[in-house]
Amino acid sequence: MLPILLSFLLLLFPSSLLADDFCVADLAGPTTPSGYTCKKPSSVTVKDFVFSGLGVPGNTSNIIKAAVTPAFVGQFPGVNGLGISAARLDLAVGGVVPLHTHPAASEFLVVTQGCILAGFISTSNDVYYTTLKKGESMLFPQGLLHFQVNAGGVTAVAVVSFSSPNPGLQITAFALFANSLPSALVEKVSFLDDAQVKKLKKVLGGSG
Ligand code: MN
Repeated sequence: MLPILLSFLLLLFPSSLLADDFCVADLAGPTTPSGYTCKKPSSVTVKDFVFSGLGVPGNTSNIIKAAVTPAFVGQFPGVNGLGISAARLDLAVGGVVPLHTHPAASEFLVVTQGCILAGFISTSNDVYYTTLKKGESMLFPQGLLHFQVNAGGVTAVAVVSFSSPNPGLQITAFALFANSLPSALVEKVSFLDDAQVKKLKKVLGGSG
């Protein structure tokens, strides 16, 4: 009886329709708020589910002495549609991941080397911050402003995971000072003085 039933089901649902276990992103195709369209299942390989970048230290020779290596859907097509992604953080001595948000995801951080002072600010403007040692973890709820700072004398490394294949990343200082919004308007909406705004625009590459 069971084989007959199975054959009947396979007739009703050909394998092409049953292949909804995953939807590996077709990065050449359109993207939508719900993700990319799927690659043809016949062209999916194990490589679509493997990301090697989290084992590679990022380049921290920059103004923030930090590097974020994303394994978001754009770099890791296998996460498309699965509500998950990851990244590696490298913080050189004195390094900082400045105040930022991921509009689409909560973040779960695990320190794998060194010490990281990390925190977030709630929409009630309550602050939650602490220093994390190797092996310790912290959660950053979706959409809230948060930061990570190297709190030790050696390079710190963390692996983070996100509750979205495309968490988004907006760094507050870059949003305010690395754009072309006229300085007078930045001053108006941020309550900062002219000298400070012009200095940060210059440092971060803004104009206006
Ligand atoms: Mn983050």
